[in-house]
Amino acid sequence: AKCGPDGNFSKGEVLPFGPIAVSPSAGVLNYGQGLFEGLKAYRKTDGSILLFRPEENASRMITGAGRMCMPAPTVEQFVDAVKQTVLANKRWVPPTGKGSLYIRPLLMGSGAVLGLAPAPEYTFIIFVSPVGNYFKEGLSPINLIVEDKFHRASPGGTGGVKTIGNYASVLKAQKIAKGKGYSDVLYLDAVHDKYLEEVSSCNIFVVKDNVISTPAIKGTILPGITRKSIIEVAQSKGFKVEERLVSVDELLNADEVFCTGTAVVVSPVGSITYLGKRVEYGNQGVGVVSQQLSKSLTGLQMGLVEDCMGWTVRLNQ
Ligand code: PMP
Repeated sequence: AKCGPDGNFSKGEVLPFGPIAVSPSAGVLNYGQGLFEGLKAYRKTDGSILLFRPEENASRMITGAGRMCMPAPTVEQFVDAVKQTVLANKRWVPPTGKGSLYIRPLLMGSGAVLGLAPAPEYTFIIFVSPVGNYFKEGLSPINLIVEDKFHRASPGGTGGVKTIGNYASVLKAQKIAKGKGYSDVLYLDAVHDKYLEEVSSCNIFVVKDNVISTPAIKGTILPGITRKSIIEVAQSKGFKVEERLVSVDELLNADEVFCTGTAVVVSPVGSITYLGKRVEYGNQGVGVVSQQLSKSLTGLQMGLVEDCMGWTVRLNQ
């Protein structure tokens, strides 16, 4: 679907996957005026298809669009477009437990600009792909390195929204870390170089004495939908959850550490390396809290347990 700066999107259409034409002077290509989202469709054992909190992705795109001077589809337009795209690709939703259909909505400044300014035209696209587990280790723990040279975001920047440029800025740190055998990079805050921010594509949690802590949302990290969901699931199970500044020292002294995100769902962290020092967590990282929360969340997402939270949206096939 397309629209001008007023945000009145045209009715979209379902097209075969393939290249799209944009002007060489499109805002997205020259000035990074682009946002994306990521969500998943899961197949239940009865064959039906579930989306997980798609309206949360729609709202996050609307917030991000404000920061990036772009119009955005309404929550209804967004969710409707996701549903239509998944239905058109329903044969690609894997069976229960065998993965999911990853859904990638993209909003971009497709209109031509020369001087630095918001684009005069916007395009909203959704594409999908079946996926298995994000980290090659699967459900087993991941090994992170705390980044001491590069930052992902700084106060006043765009770290809090899902804009494409945030991901360009982490490619190098991630490449170096993967080259040394780490699964991914954990970033620290750019002001003190001391407080945890997030991983390249997921949020981080530390558990100490059964209290779960995670960095507060303050504009430099992405407000993850899995993060928010895990906080609610943990609280409903009686855990104390703190959203606050979490220092790297607390991380190194935690009982267990885990990451959350649409792609990784809940991934236990087996080890952290910081300034050349490696800390390993008990039971090779698979802690009791992360195991329990992971089971509850995946049960909801795959429709294996009753959705008492009202988070899943069943598609009418
Ligand atoms: N942080 C970053 C930088 C991300 O790219 C993602 C993935 N969207 C997350 C956190 C986790 O967010 P969510 O749980 O909504 O997938």
